[in-house]
Amino acid sequence: MEISRKQAELLRGLPRVDAVMARPEWNVARQENPQTLKAAVRSVLENIRQEIQSGKRTSPILDSELSGRISSCYISFCGMRPVINATGVILHTNLGRAPLSRQAVEAAQRAAYGYTDLEFDLDSGTRANRTAAVEALLCRLTGAEDAIAVNNNAAAVILCLAVLAKGKPVAVSRGELVEIGGSFRIPEILQQSGSPLLEIGTTNRTYLSDYENAAAQGAALLLKVHSSNYRIIGFTESVAISELSALGNRLGLPVVHDVGGGLLADLSPYGICEEPSVCQSVKDGADITTFSGDKLLGGPQCGLAVGKRSWISQMKRHPLARAFRLDKVTLASLEATLLSYENGREFEEIPVLSMLCAATSSLELRAQKLCSLLRGIGISAQIRETEGQVGGGTLPEHPLPGYGVSFSAKFSAQELEARLRHAPVPVLARISKGQVIFDVRTVPEEQLPFLVQAVQYAFYGENG
Ligand SMILES: *Cc1c(COP(=O)(O)O)cnc(C)c1O
Repeated sequence: MEISRKQAELLRGLPRVDAVMARPEWNVARQENPQTLKAAVRSVLENIRQEIQSGKRTSPILDSELSGRISSCYISFCGMRPVINATGVILHTNLGRAPLSRQAVEAAQRAAYGYTDLEFDLDSGTRANRTAAVEALLCRLTGAEDAIAVNNNAAAVILCLAVLAKGKPVAVSRGELVEIGGSFRIPEILQQSGSPLLEIGTTNRTYLSDYENAAAQGAALLLKVHSSNYRIIGFTESVAISELSALGNRLGLPVVHDVGGGLLADLSPYGICEEPSVCQSVKDGADITTFSGDKLLGGPQCGLAVGKRSWISQMKRHPLARAFRLDKVTLASLEATLLSYENGREFEEIPVLSMLCAATSSLELRAQKLCSLLRGIGISAQIRETEGQVGGGTLPEHPLPGYGVSFSAKFSAQELEARLRHAPVPVLARISKGQVIFDVRTVPEEQLPFLVQAVQYAFYGENG
């Protein structure tokens, strides 16, 4: 491609990689990750070169723009960053779902740092099963005969279908052919497992007789899926897992219940009754109940299946179990999370549950505290009533009334929201009625200073 004299001059004017790297503003990055910094500087300079060659850039780059671009690029090259979730959405899938309890974090750290008896029996000095302790905990907590832990609920469902349906047809109600964000779609999961999907009933109404007919047509398994992230209301009918289990028993067909959220705690005192509990599913006779570890259970990303020993032991021996197996760090944090339940400390220790059940009076106090911190840096902030959400595809119809703080700025809410995302510790906020709102339900007290810091950055810039 021909380039003009002007373009050649702009290209010649670009600084060299080494010269940029030597600037004092990169002292820390140069010490910590020199090669990563170099890759970021190269990448940004290369992009600018292309902008000049394509005619998109017609003036020399300013130092401030160059620094900003290198900084963003370097940060993204370094990987994940902690953020503050001021959206009021407790299980925010884009923000990593459940934050872990202090106990779970410490257990993960201990396991990660050194060696553990992961697959070793200290008594006999021989090899042991890595998930035995978690499985026993799950059995004690749910009343199930046996349990298995894998990487996520999608894996638990696939493994379960592979063992229980073995490629034969699986009956699912048309009202339960769910899609859970990303790529978990029941019809596609079934296709992947090699079992034909036998759709039964209608979108709004499915009866026990529909399952009976499916059995007559050769269904080898009855699958019930919780409609986690949507509700069908009005003229509806569905079959309870207790009835379905009784039918499965009578016909000699296994019944699988994907409850999704992994509710182990009793939320009825908090007015939350619409989410199926794992224990109830086991009690109601499901052969296998599957659920996530990082939704309502409040632990690390993993998938759990509990139920009849004969099926679970086959699942453990299946080759997919090895492909889906958990690592020691996840196992350690899962164990610690489950121990909180076993010892009756789940509402104090597990953040998902304490956020879900936080008293509005304590949220109001926290909002007041944030308000005065913001006023302290000259921002006119007001307390607002907010509506949080559980999120993560659970309890879509259950708003969580709480408190937050809103404030106005000389720029638009969209611009303010974007500036907050670019703060040294990024803050995710909500926009409601043209105003940015921090919902304090998902911001623990000790994180309030980060909100103040981000507002300071948004209003007054880097050196504010
Ligand atoms: C969330 C969910 C899944 C997927 O779980 P992951 O742990 O994200 O793999 C599957 N089924 C139901 C009903 C769910 O709610």
